[in-house]
Amino acid sequence: MTMPQGTIFDIKRFAIHDGPGIRTTVFLKGCPLRCSWCHNPEGQNPDPEPAMPVVAVPDSSERSPDEIVGRVLEVEDVVKELESDILFFDESGGGVTFSGGEPFAQPEFLDALLDACRTRKLHTCLDTSGYAPAELFALFRDRVDLYLYDLKLMDDAEHQKYTGVSNRSILDNLRTLDELQRKVVVRFLVIPGLTDTEDNISATLGFLASLRNLRDVSLLPYHRIAAEKYRRLRRKNEMEGLSPPSDEVMKSLRTRFESCGMKVTIGA
Ligand code: SF4
Repeated sequence: MTMPQGTIFDIKRFAIHDGPGIRTTVFLKGCPLRCSWCHNPEGQNPDPEPAMPVVAVPDSSERSPDEIVGRVLEVEDVVKELESDILFFDESGGGVTFSGGEPFAQPEFLDALLDACRTRKLHTCLDTSGYAPAELFALFRDRVDLYLYDLKLMDDAEHQKYTGVSNRSILDNLRTLDELQRKVVVRFLVIPGLTDTEDNISATLGFLASLRNLRDVSLLPYHRIAAEKYRRLRRKNEMEGLSPPSDEVMKSLRTRFESCGMKVTIGA
């Protein structure tokens, strides 16, 4: 039997912000969204792609050749990398996180990876935009131990404007996970002037209050670290020049979410 192949752009070991404990995060390539603020633009294109080298050679007339971002791997290749960290997972209560891009964009690969993790009794997190058909969510639901679920903009027209897709299936899938009492941490990216407006915060809190079980929220401050990635990919950074939210804004949002009954962490 041939194992499915998939395209990834990174495997990050010893990750501590992608779920509980020490984790290995596998970044799958391909995403149906085009968020204006995307912090992993190299995850959008499903195929390996050229990027300028990390360090340009100063004062050199010779241009360094491009590097290729992304590689095609078999499930077994990924599993081999995961297995070398099992000791750290066991000791720290960690495991494996699938991120991207959008992991649901490679369903067969994700399916096989989740199976491989289950066979090895590895804890799994899925870092997802939530944008996928309900049937896919249903197919994978019982093999994902924890969802890290992004919420962005509650107004559908705004969501379409800034991500390229409707938020309807995203909200529906989250409602279903909540009804089924699956473990979910909502990740809310705080982007000044975009997601932290009064309208969006009230609508987000209203939506969260309508859920029966979900209480865990991670507030993530927008940061600029993707700027270099856009440069390397020769792509326009639509958020260029935007400053991260202040500590005061993050603290006041934390208080606001907590006053609505949420358990809040401020993430990295
Ligand atoms: S969902 Fe994530 S990976 Fe996809 S475009 Fe948005 S920020 Fe980037």
